[in-house]
Amino acid sequence: MIVTRFAPSPNGPLHLGHAYSAVTAHDLARERGGRFLLRIEDIDGERSRPELAVEFREDLAWLGLEWEEVPAQSTRLASYEAAARELLERGLLYPCTCTRSEIAALDPRMGPEGLVYPGTCKGQALDPAKPVSLRLNMDRTMAEVGEIVWEDELVGTTIADPRDFGDVVLVRKDAPASYHLAATLDDAADGVTLVTRGDDLYAASHIHRVLQELLGLPVPDWYHHPLLLDDGGDKLAKRRGSGASRFGLAELRRAGEDGRALADALRANRFPAGISLSKP
Ligand code: GLU
Ligand code: ZN
Repeated sequence: MIVTRFAPSPNGPLHLGHAYSAVTAHDLARERGGRFLLRIEDIDGERSRPELAVEFREDLAWLGLEWEEVPAQSTRLASYEAAARELLERGLLYPCTCTRSEIAALDPRMGPEGLVYPGTCKGQALDPAKPVSLRLNMDRTMAEVGEIVWEDELVGTTIADPRDFGDVVLVRKDAPASYHLAATLDDAADGVTLVTRGDDLYAASHIHRVLQELLGLPVPDWYHHPLLLDDGGDKLAKRRGSGASRFGLAELRRAGEDGRALADALRANRFPAGISLSKP
């Protein structure tokens, strides 16, 4: 049976782009007689605000969606720790004490999610006074997993190659897991069979596929949908204009807009003036 999910982070209000994503995941599940899950990704420290999760549920109900909610990430820390411990014991993770500015000072190349860590701490003695993150040793990882593929319903079959990201962080200094580790473990635990999300996370799926292989997790398919763009051609951002954004769902809901009609408009690719869909 198909299982899709919507996995918002409660660090800012949802906007029209999230509505598009949620409707897409919901409808894919419904059309194929499956389940649609909601998972709150709330391990972002103080940036995670519980009151926003409450609002998210109201937004989704207003759109006319029905879902099954699975446990929020903050309740699953033990599973992240166990996976990280296993990878550490297998020599696939190493501790890193570098700060963002120390990394920037090394003038590293840019990767899909910002500066690429040049591996400075690999094989180095630790300063026990400094907080550490745990990074994936990408060379070792790729040697271990070999050539594996993943399948996006819109793009087709792709060889998993996350090397552009460098040695990504799996356990953050300030959080028990990075997005990559937590989302990968949760999708497996929740039985997600079709990971539905925006195109901006397409590259990240290379990492997730490799983590599945390392950890012996079931392998879903993916469905990366196009993004809603503003009139400047930029993707709608959570932070820009924050809650007061013209396209904030809670704002529209409180202004008395019809959420079901909005969901239907999104289904028909009818967008408000100034909004368009990125090219697939
Ligand atoms: N929590 C992520 C976000 O809000 C999305 C994660 C995902 O869909 O994999 O950007
Ligand atoms: Zn380092």
